[in-house]
Amino acid sequence: MLSGIGIHSGVEIQIKISPGTPETGIRFFRQGYANTPIPCDARYALSAARATLLEKDGQRIRTPEHLLSALYGLGITCADITMSDEEVPILDGSAKTFTDAFIDAGIEALPCVAIPAIRIPISVQGPHGSTASVFPDTLRRFTYLLHFPNSFVGYQYYSFVWTPEGYITDIAPARTFGFRHEVEALKAQGLALGGSLDNAVVIGEDGYINTTLRFPDELVRHKVLDLIGDMALVGTPFTGHVVGVASGHALHAHLAQEIQKQIVIQ
Ligand SMILES: [Zn+2]
Repeated sequence: MLSGIGIHSGVEIQIKISPGTPETGIRFFRQGYANTPIPCDARYALSAARATLLEKDGQRIRTPEHLLSALYGLGITCADITMSDEEVPILDGSAKTFTDAFIDAGIEALPCVAIPAIRIPISVQGPHGSTASVFPDTLRRFTYLLHFPNSFVGYQYYSFVWTPEGYITDIAPARTFGFRHEVEALKAQGLALGGSLDNAVVIGEDGYINTTLRFPDELVRHKVLDLIGDMALVGTPFTGHVVGVASGHALHAHLAQEIQKQIVIQ
């Protein structure tokens, strides 16, 4: 059981994670609605400002991406997640609290099964030159290029070959971030109501405002964390090289839908 506030709603949420089955994969439940699971599946992903939204049968889950990243980052492909409200808590803005909790609770190994492989490259385009692509690869690889030309941040690049151990040390602690000038605009739209200096790295004009970074390239590592979480929406791990260039959750969900078509999810 974990609890915390949603970064966008500001609402306090309790969340309980129980073992799932290989047949049902990762599913979300709203408390009191045990008969209407919301699967972790790109076909139920709606585009939402700044976050992923899953919706099925009138039930919705907001901001599942860091929790999904922690699950897939540790190689956990089935779990039942029950939530007291619709938005997954932001905690410290990273995936570390989730990975620590899963490691404490213990993770049960399932019999090994072959995972599908990407055979043909796929690329989808978003606004402002952003792209999300996947290429054949013998490994599970995630690469991101971040570019903020009008900020001191400039370019950051990170490429990660997936292993659970590497995920725990190099990806899970990387926190979400935002520009100071965007924060007021987001709050005016009713977003980031739970955002604070405790759960996001805030980028100012000349430097980071509130924090010592956990990694010099923490921002791009967080984008790799997001990319891993969004690829959980495919519904199965796969071998391939996923590459995001200035991309966000909506474009990643679109790529996940295209990958589903190639590897034929039942
Ligand atoms: Zn994120």
